[in-house]
Amino acid sequence: MAERAASVAADASAAFAEREPVVRLDGISKRFETKSGTVHALEGIRQSIGAGEFVAIVGPSGCGKSTLLRILCGLEQPTQGRVDWGRGGEAPRMGVAFQDHRLLPWLSVEQNIMLPRLMLGRAAAADIERARSLCSLVGLTGFEQRRPAELSGGMKQRASVARALFTDPELLLLDEPFGALDALTREQITADTERIWTAQRFAALLITHSISEAVHLADRVIVMSARPGRVVAEFPVDLPRPRTDVLGSPEFAKLCSDIRKKLEL
Ligand code: ADP
Repeated sequence: MAERAASVAADASAAFAEREPVVRLDGISKRFETKSGTVHALEGIRQSIGAGEFVAIVGPSGCGKSTLLRILCGLEQPTQGRVDWGRGGEAPRMGVAFQDHRLLPWLSVEQNIMLPRLMLGRAAAADIERARSLCSLVGLTGFEQRRPAELSGGMKQRASVARALFTDPELLLLDEPFGALDALTREQITADTERIWTAQRFAALLITHSISEAVHLADRVIVMSARPGRVVAEFPVDLPRPRTDVLGSPEFAKLCSDIRKKLEL
């Protein structure tokens, strides 16, 4: 059974390689000029993310992971290299969730979720319906009218993920969104994220410090070196889904340990 599931997963990995990527990073380097000198954040990143593929990046603090994600959202420009979007150069619909939830304190959960719509004008009935169904998807039913201050840390992150999903993204960018949560809440949200991704199959890029979170969620884990951040290894994750069923398995532990060894080099 496990063997068959693993072979299904391997077939899926091969399928990503054949699909047109959502994005291709072509030799991205980034230097910041600061008062105290040049900070060389990234060096020669060449990667693609396939449609529907879940990619995780792990690496030491300060190795340029967030910078890479900010380049993808257009918040930073690379010093060298380029971001090539699939589909003839048109950027996909994107959603982003950060470690600090960035919810607006004076808006309700529902209004925060449909913020991308509110910024363009008034929300229509269909937008409110969508915000409510996203509340239900992320486990916030009953909290639609609450303000962020009334929510726990985990609930705020759930709302932040729901907002990132509001535009029905083709590429979801997750910058350590669960990093500040306690271990149990983090495990629950990770499992829920896998469930949502399995149902909707957008491409996703997760930045995380947690190797087990990366292996739980990703089809492929990319390991980066200390600054300047370079790709030092890539691990396809051919474990069956849902991964909650295999978290305690020797295969899961072995992969986490192999990734850790590359991080410690
Ligand atoms: P990570 O997400 O891997 O922890 P970051 O991408 O946040 O790393 O940062 C990579 C390096 O670039 C760090 O040394 C950080 O201080 C530096 N850096 C990031 N943004 C800026 C900026 N706007 N100006 C100057 N230095 C920056």
